[in-house]
Parts: sequence; structure tokens; C-alpha cells
Amino acid sequence: MLVQVALPVPLYRVFDYSVPVDVNASSSSSLPHIGCRVEVSFGRQTLIGIVVAHTSETDSSVPANKLKPINKCLDAEPILDANMLKLAHWLARYYHYPLGDVLAVILPNLVRQGKSLDLLITHWRVLPHASDNDFRANAKKQKQQFDMLKLHGERGASEDVLLLEGMERAFLKTLEDKGLIERYIEPKQAPSPVKLAKMPLDLNDEQQLAVAAIVAAHEAERYTGFLLNGITGSGKTEVYLQAMQAVLEAGKQVLILVPEIGLTPQTRARFASRFAAHIVLLHSGMNNTHRLQGWQDCRSGHAQIIIGTRSAVLYPFANLGLIVVDEAHDGSYKQQDTLRYHAADVALYRGLQYNIPVVLGTATPSLEHLKLVDDSKLVECQLLTRPGNAKPATMQLIDARLQSTHQQTTDDGARYDTGLTDALIGAIRQTLEAGNQVLIFLNRRGYAPVLLCEACGWQADCPRCDAHLTVHYNSQSQHNTYNSSYLKCHHCDWQAYIPTVCPDCGSQNVDAKGMGTTRLSENLHAIFANPQASKELYPIIQIDRDTTRRKDSWENIYQRINQGNPAILVGTQMVAKGHHFPNVTLVCLPNADRGFLSADFRSPEHTAQLMVQVAGRAGRGDKSGRVLIQTLQPDNELLLKLVKDGYLSFARELLQERKMMGLPPHSHAALIRCEGKTLAATTQALKDAVANLPHGHNLAVLGPIDAPMSKKNSRYHAQLLLLAKDRRQLHHVLNQWWQPVLALPSAKYLKLTLDIDPVGW
Ligand code: ADP
Ligand code: ZN
Ligand code: ZN
Repeated sequence: MLVQVALPVPLYRVFDYSVPVDVNASSSSSLPHIGCRVEVSFGRQTLIGIVVAHTSETDSSVPANKLKPINKCLDAEPILDANMLKLAHWLARYYHYPLGDVLAVILPNLVRQGKSLDLLITHWRVLPHASDNDFRANAKKQKQQFDMLKLHGERGASEDVLLLEGMERAFLKTLEDKGLIERYIEPKQAPSPVKLAKMPLDLNDEQQLAVAAIVAAHEAERYTGFLLNGITGSGKTEVYLQAMQAVLEAGKQVLILVPEIGLTPQTRARFASRFAAHIVLLHSGMNNTHRLQGWQDCRSGHAQIIIGTRSAVLYPFANLGLIVVDEAHDGSYKQQDTLRYHAADVALYRGLQYNIPVVLGTATPSLEHLKLVDDSKLVECQLLTRPGNAKPATMQLIDARLQSTHQQTTDDGARYDTGLTDALIGAIRQTLEAGNQVLIFLNRRGYAPVLLCEACGWQADCPRCDAHLTVHYNSQSQHNTYNSSYLKCHHCDWQAYIPTVCPDCGSQNVDAKGMGTTRLSENLHAIFANPQASKELYPIIQIDRDTTRRKDSWENIYQRINQGNPAILVGTQMVAKGHHFPNVTLVCLPNADRGFLSADFRSPEHTAQLMVQVAGRAGRGDKSGRVLIQTLQPDNELLLKLVKDGYLSFARELLQERKMMGLPPHSHAALIRCEGKTLAATTQALKDAVANLPHGHNLAVLGPIDAPMSKKNSRYHAQLLLLAKDRRQLHHVLNQWWQPVLALPSAKYLKLTLDIDPVGW
């Protein structure tokens, strides 16, 4: 008998190995189980792979008796069960990605590296007869490490904990060899049943219907995908909580996916205050040991509530009972490199796998999900009202062409434009004076997006990308050194000094153009936090990646906001997601509608989602909210539709448009990107790829064209789009076409990638 092994190599095949007789002495069968890790020689390398099948004959060119044997089997029991292997096969098929590479994405690093899964449960304790007399006077370090372990008493502590405390592995070994300490395996105890820690709220009728539908699917052990379509603040989380209760009480696990780690401390608190349960957080900030620990807890059933970002959907679960995808429209659910999966799609697949309900919750459903509702593949539950007194905010347009924008005078007397209309400034002042908070949304960090020479039109561009350099500058900063004034590319992180004269014509008229969050904060500061301009001084709190970079800074900002004193919050899309700011009653969008003009056909959808999500931050407490949208295009039909009729009618109209144009979700897309040293080479490879398409393929082929940012980090990008009416059609073509394309002579030295269901092109 032979084993087929999936190896982490970019080849679309598995590899046959023979098995020496004594390789798996610990197991009764002489073959490593399917789902176990094995170490094998591969060319000149030694790799760790997963056994995916047993077979009696090999279809490789090497005769069976010449096949290389595996070096060793690392696991007595499979580390991936049948469901996980099925998931891996499905991902490989659907995303046309090599199985071995899929497994490499699924497995935590330490597992991939072949570490023992017992690592976490290996405990160390001091042996009863060991005493201080066993140490020679000069063995100070040994004694110190021994004392460290002794502090943990009879039961000792896990290796993991000891290493964190500063214990060194080498000393554990030495002390063990001297017969002073011993290792033992501490089996994890089954978690105690989940208990309610707090009474649930009384649901309104809409919430009740939603919970009942989800719980019914759970009780019937029937896969059902739900679209929980509820306006912001309508109590979606309460629906999750009460549906979870039934599932947890039945002894099953609940997986909750959230868009971003910035959200998880608050999210965790909401779940932890309701349930006394073992809650596990999974996110990209974890170190390898914690990831492995989380992986093991999910796999063993120890974890009862799992809150995680995108990749948590790929974890193994002992007895999963419900998956919730919060803010299911969010772009972060789509992985943008290697295995380009969409976590909401994978969540639905897993629901089907385990026969359990999957809830996609959002106030702004993606067109894909609306289409699934139309096709009866998702059951829609609507929440159209906010509980209690809170009223959804009203949206209002301010015509920035008619209104003069506020002029501000600098210290040296020059006047400049704040970019804010007088109407907007009036509303901000009113809100602050009434004791409330204002949120201003500007999706652009830094001081200004462009540095421009007024004399000759020169602009500061990134030498490595097709992009302007962003001006970073901070006149408020006490440390106004060169460190806080610089030009930076937001795509490749290239940095440069801000020139004092134009490098092209020598003119001194070099000026920052446009508005980023830093400049906006500064302008607001001059109006609302300057004793000469304002009676009261209001704090301006800037929230973007620059101000929240430090580990605790976001927590600090959050606390400052939730003290509730009047303040102006200026934020990028970081503030759009799920936050609860009870004292914000006014939300301003000075130019959020720019996205309606973008060339990307998905841009209107994403712009509207962002606007509605930001608007949803207004009036979430007992106070009602207002949303002001300042625009230079008040006649834009999409914008008017959104403001007058709301997101759903807006989305329905877009969906109709997509249908007419044959665009996703009314067709199915695959995007091929090609990256290389020259544009010509990348385009040529894609041309050859097109020439290789099978005859009569029936797909719409767009391109090759230059990618939206064709030069990025000194590399060139071209792309090719394939559209099919029918999903099977698309996969049928890709199955026979994609692998030969990768082997094209012109594709050598280029990076070709395939993106199924791309979110942008
Ligand atoms: P969403 O997730 O839909 O934006 P939340 O779940 O955050 O909304 O709910 C908004 C607010 O409404 C929260 O403060 C929540 O405690 C409250 N809430 C939700 N459901 C109810 C209910 N049935 N009765 C009273 N308050 C509720
Ligand atoms: Zn110039
Ligand atoms: Zn750049």
C-alpha cells in the first residue's frame, strides 16, 4: 500500500510515497491514517505534508517499488478529520488552488512545521524528592529555574506558560535529566455547560421571528443560510445572542466572524457578559502558540464561543452548531492574496457541511447576498426598526456649490479654504452646544492627498507606483520635526522629504492640495478648539491608522469618546464598522460621495455601504440623529436615490443595472492578474492565455488591459477578466485552461494569479 501526500508546493497534484513497515509503530495499522502529517523527502528538500489517500497503485511514472518511502509519520491520530479534508478539497476545486497550498493556508504555522500537538498540554512539575541540596553552589541558573517551577506547586504548569515566564527549554531538559522534575500530559477537562450570565432582552416582533427561524433550523439540524437584513442599531446582535443561546445550551459551538480585530474587544465583552462560557478569540495579531492553542480548543470542542476574523472560518470544529457572519458585506472577508476565498461563502459551505444554520447579518447587504435571496438560496429576515426610542438618522444633502465654504485665516494673514460649508459648521456648533458629539467621516488619512506646484503643475508622485504621494504634516504637533512632515506612498510605503521648492521649475509655490484627516482635524481645531474663535473649546479626536497604530491607543480613544463629553470625532472607514457611540447625534460626510464617480463598477455599492454604515453611528443612544452629506454633485441620481429611498431600494436598482449589463452577481467572474518587470511582458502572457482558451468557450473575455494601478512597488500589472452566465461553465473552462496557462513559456518569470469572484477590478 502507498500513501498520497499533499505537499506545500505550487503544483496541482498529490505525491505517492511508500511506507516502510515500522514507520507507525504506535498505531495498529501500518499505514499512516488519512489526515495525519508525514515527513517526506521531496527533491533535495524535506517537507511535511498531509496524507490525503491510501492507494494500492501509483499513477506516477515511477514504478511502485521505486517510490521513495516517507521518512516518518508525525501523528498517531489524524489531525484533520474527514470534514476538514472535504473543505480543503472544495477550496482547492472552487478557487483552483493547489491542494497542498490550501492545506498550508488552513494549518497553523506550528502544525505545518511539524510541532507536536502535545506541546500545549505538556506540563512540568517538581518531583517530591527533589530539594535545594541537589544543586551545586555554582549552578545558580539551574537553581533559579528550578525555583521558578517550584512556585507552581504540586501540579506544576504547562510548558507554554513556563516558557512565557522566562523558563528555558534547555534547563527543563537538564533538570529532567538530573531526575529533579518530570513532564506529564494533563488532559484538558471538558468545558462546563454554558450558563446565562445575564437575562436576555425582550425581543420585538421582528427579532422574535428571526430568532425563531434560526432556532428552528438548528433544532431540525438543517442547513439554512439566513440574511439578517437589519438597519443599523436594529438589534441584530440581540438576535445572534438569543439564537446562540439555544445552540450553546444544546452543547454545541458557535462561530462568530467579525470584520476586524479593532472590533473584537467590544464584541467579546458583549458575548462574555451574556454567557458564562469558554470564549476564544482568533485574529491575525496572535502569536503562533496562541494560534495553535485556539486551533486545538476549536478542534477538541473546548472552545464554546469562537469570535474571529476571516481565517477563523477555516478552523476545525468538534461540534459546530451555528455560524454568524457579522457585517457580512464587509470587504475584509475577502482574502486578497494566496487562497483568495470569501469567508461568507466558505461559511455557507461549512453550514451545509455540518447541517447547521448560517446567519449573514448586515444593514447593507451586498448585491451578491440579495441575489441569493432572490434565488431562494438565503432566507431573508428583516429588522426595519430600532428598539426603544432610538430613531434611524435622517439623511440630508448640502449643496457645496451653492454654499460658500468656510474661510479661515492663518497666523500670517493668508486666507484658506477649510473645505467645510458654513451650513455644516453651523450644524456642528449647534450639536456641540447641545452637549452632543459629532462624527466627521473622511476616508483619507494623512494631511493632503497631493503636493502640487502651482507654477508648473508638477505633482509629487511615487517613483515606484502609479500614485501620488500623500502629504503627512502636522502643525499642531509639538515635535514638528522632519519626522512628522514627510511624503509617503500609501501603496508601497515609499517616503520622501517635502521639497520647499518645486524640483521641476524651482517655484516656491508648492502646496498641499485636498483634504486628509490630519488637515481636517487641524481646520476643525482652528474653529472649535481655538480660544480666539470659540467660547468653548472642544476636543478634536482623530481616528485613523496613523493615530491608532500603538497597541492601546484605540482603547484609549474609545474610552475618551464613551465618557460622552461634547467632542468632534474625525475618522476614516475605521469608524464605520459596528461601533457604538451613544452620544454621537450628528454625522457629517464632507465628500463621501466621490466614490459614485469611480470607474470600478462596484464602487457605488461600496460607497453607499460605507455611507450608510457611517450614518448608522448617529443616534444610537436615546437621542435621535442627523446625517449631513456635503456634495458637489447634488443631482447625482444614485446619491439622490440613496438619500431619498434608502439603501435597499438603491441596492435593488444597482442589481437591476448589473443584470442589464451582465455583470456579477448576474454573471460569474474570474480575474487573472499578471505581475512582472514590464507591462509588455505581462500583457503578452495574458494575450497568449486568451489564445489558449478552449474553442467555443462561451465566456465574455475582457482584456488584457492594464490593471487599475498598473505600476505598484516597481512591478507592472495587467489583467484579464472572464465572465460567464453560468458558474459551472466558468469552472469547466478554468479546469482545462488554467494549469496550462501557468505553464505557458511567456508566463515564465511572471506571477500569474487567479481570483474567483473578485471584489474589484
Ligand atoms: P445592530 O447590531 O443591529 O447595529 P445592536 O445589536 O447593537 O444593533 O442594538 C442596538 C441597541 O439596541 C443596543 O444597545 C441593544 O442593547 C439594544 N437592543 C437590541 N434589541 C433590543 C430589544 N429587544 N429591546 C431593547 N433594546 C434592544
Ligand atoms: Zn513647478
Ligand atoms: Zn508607491
